[in-house]
Amino acid sequence: MFHQFPVQYVQPLFRPPSEGRSLIFQVTNGCSWNRCSYCEMYTDAQKKFRPRAEAELLAEIRACGESGLEPRRVFLADGDALVLSMRRLRSILTEIRHALPSVSRVSSYCLPSNLKNKTDQDLLELESLGLKIIYVGAESGDDTVLRKIGKGETYASTVDALQRASAAGIKTSVMILNGIGGRRLSRQHALASARLANDTQPDYLATLVLTFYKGREKFVAGFDNDFEELDTVGLCEEVKTLLAACELENTIFRSDHVSNHMVLKGVLGKDKQRLLGQIDESIAYFREHPEFENDNLQY
Ligand code: SF4
Repeated sequence: MFHQFPVQYVQPLFRPPSEGRSLIFQVTNGCSWNRCSYCEMYTDAQKKFRPRAEAELLAEIRACGESGLEPRRVFLADGDALVLSMRRLRSILTEIRHALPSVSRVSSYCLPSNLKNKTDQDLLELESLGLKIIYVGAESGDDTVLRKIGKGETYASTVDALQRASAAGIKTSVMILNGIGGRRLSRQHALASARLANDTQPDYLATLVLTFYKGREKFVAGFDNDFEELDTVGLCEEVKTLLAACELENTIFRSDHVSNHMVLKGVLGKDKQRLLGQIDESIAYFREHPEFENDNLQY
């Protein structure tokens, strides 16, 4: 038995909701890009990007094994662990394999640009060393929206990364930000995001609602100070446009983040009509009860 948890973190620490039971190693601090105008995850002074000292990290992984921890899943934090070189990733994944043989799945957030300097052979190697799923905050498939939010990616760069990861056997989880284009770009954002999903057939697709926790000035400046937020009905209609245009074969869809006004869960395409029906019910409810705009409808 261990007396002290053998892992150190620089707070705040973020992880996808589905990694709630995972052991987290902070292999980098912050995000190497850190320029998305809506993102405030790593803006505190102590979150300036830097890779974790390698010897310290490997010692931490070994200490977890010696402490008797037997996790099934490991999540590599912070914002884009896959920016690390193949040499470093190889050494981290190998150490996890040796020290923690109970682990069957390693995952991390991933920027599409993280994969640019990795060959298809590198991706196959990462998968064989245990990297089983990447979480990609695509946010939108629309290049105008991507430029206005400072994402540093395009439709093409995102599709390329997702297709290459899938071809290597690494599962993909894609996040789309509901409302990120505002009222004016809502439809083109939804349709281009559906096209991105159709072209990449991700294993998981999720929508989150654009939320400003620390103010919206920087974000709105990217839209030339001309950004009209969608109301709840507009947000629901945007998700409806997205799902209606999705032609997916076997993608688990979730809209159950705390930011979402309606909670939707299903498999696309088999549950598409049911989900569209639920969205129509939500839209009718919010139209009839504008006073409950901020309610979260559970299905
Ligand atoms: S890439 Fe992700 S973590 Fe980095 S700034 Fe953009 S949204 Fe935030």
